[in-house]
Amino acid sequence: MGQTRYDFTDETVIVTGGTSGIGRAVARRFGEAGATVVVADIREEPKERDESAPTAEAIEDDGGRATFVETDVSSPPEVVSVVEAAREFGGVDVMVNNAGIYRHASLLETDVDSFDQVFAINVRGVFAGCRAAARDMLERGEPGSIVNTASISSEYAQVGHTMYDASKGAVMMLTRVAALELAQYDIRVNAVAPGIIETTFGSGNPDAESRVDDQFIHEDAGLPDIGEQGQEARIPMDRMASPEELAGSYLFLAADDASYITGHLLYVDGGYQIV
Ligand code: NAD
Repeated sequence: MGQTRYDFTDETVIVTGGTSGIGRAVARRFGEAGATVVVADIREEPKERDESAPTAEAIEDDGGRATFVETDVSSPPEVVSVVEAAREFGGVDVMVNNAGIYRHASLLETDVDSFDQVFAINVRGVFAGCRAAARDMLERGEPGSIVNTASISSEYAQVGHTMYDASKGAVMMLTRVAALELAQYDIRVNAVAPGIIETTFGSGNPDAESRVDDQFIHEDAGLPDIGEQGQEARIPMDRMASPEELAGSYLFLAADDASYITGHLLYVDGGYQIV
């Protein structure tokens, strides 16, 4: 089966957290579809251990147009700056609010600084991205599309996920409220809810083989072990997904094919949520 082709020629797409993992795959797919891609991240070099070029460079090597803007999404003024930078390419048409972090601790062990850090990036970052993009689209009198990265954690609680699950629940509701308020302006807001994806997410360690190596060592946090195979045991499709397998869902939600879809949480999770 081939991939569905979308045409984003003449459109400008911002992808936060676009350096690594899911964001990188999404940015590259938009680049392949003809978009000018603004990669916004706190770091330019990918966390992945291979010899990959930074995302914007990789897109240009593939014949696309892209630029990198160093951005900390927890800072609303920096998010406004990246939206302003997109004006150089005609203004943001699609905003992908994807940057996010994971911190592992039980409720009893969670400290306030970690809690605030997770919310600053995962929630304030998405809020700032939705607001800055929508304001810019309105100012330019253009329609647009916003796609946030939620998670299976938006609706499914897991042991040790106090901060993360709460933050992703907030992303789901931010998506819905933004969709409700912005529908009148022809701005659609949706979210992709990934299941368990093979990235270095949550490892905090750029050299980690995979997020599962140290993200799910529950013993460290004094939490119950979730079994030898951990979360993967729960996935009906019995495997994790590659970031590339997720990318198309972002393009779909951003494209005209999804012109009547707003406020939706699209699970891309191998069936995790049906168990
Ligand atoms: P990743 O760690 O590979 O990528 C996250 C990117 O966000 C990195 O490039 C990082 O530098 C960037 N980032 C972190 N803090 C930032 C900040 N303050 N400002 C700007 N950029 C920042 O992880 P990933 O798996 O690709 O995760 C991407 C998104 O997907 C996150 O929102 C995550 O919560 C979500 N998600 C991941 C999984 C998974 O299994 N990997 C599952 C569900 C949801």
